[in-house]
Amino acid sequence: MEDHENRIQTLAEWLYESHHLVVFTGAGISTESGLPDFRGPDGMWTRRDKGLPPPPSSRSWEAVEPNSGHRTIVKLQAMGKLKFLISQNVDNLHLKSGIRPDLLAELHGNIAKLRCTRCGKKVDKSTAMTACECGGDLVRSVVNFGESLPERDLMLSFEHARKSDLFVVVGSSLVVTPAADMPAEALRAGAKLVIINQGETPFDRHAHLRFGERIGDVLPRAVKRLKRMMGMFE
Ligand SMILES: [Zn+2]
Repeated sequence: MEDHENRIQTLAEWLYESHHLVVFTGAGISTESGLPDFRGPDGMWTRRDKGLPPPPSSRSWEAVEPNSGHRTIVKLQAMGKLKFLISQNVDNLHLKSGIRPDLLAELHGNIAKLRCTRCGKKVDKSTAMTACECGGDLVRSVVNFGESLPERDLMLSFEHARKSDLFVVVGSSLVVTPAADMPAEALRAGAKLVIINQGETPFDRHAHLRFGERIGDVLPRAVKRLKRMMGMFE
């Protein structure tokens, strides 16, 4: 317990000292919202690729709301601490929680957005548009296995990983490349690496700080301390 407190305190101090904080999120942040796993053995996308309907017990993704993990990252944005957010998730919860689109890379696309094949612009699915203003076709933005990742998102992610002095992984097992190359890029650039994930990752022995606890038990508490250090009160 004491060890847990010490690590929370260290994370808060590193957040305080950081000049270029990059947060990297994976499915683990959204499962705490009750979202079904998309890519797992019985995940929605795995099933869809096999031509099966969504698992019967799963809630519709539109009904899923951001949780304390998502909201805490928005707080880091509001405090001017977050310089960039890289996500492997397609569930739209970061944008729904209030993350600025220009601070976000969605490496695997977004279930609520269409993408222009010509200019790369993203449009809400709900607009029911079929062509972009530039004349390009609008297609689903979600990237399936084997398809190339969106260029702008990928480029910005590597750029910010290289600039980062603190790189915080939240709920990813860091096994899907090229996303998993980003912590390595950050380490090469001299950043401190923090991993908050309930399962093992290939980067665990390189991490400067490691949390195996739930995201909701780590991130909100560290940011609360950070706020106090910055002289801000809830
Ligand atoms: Zn376009």
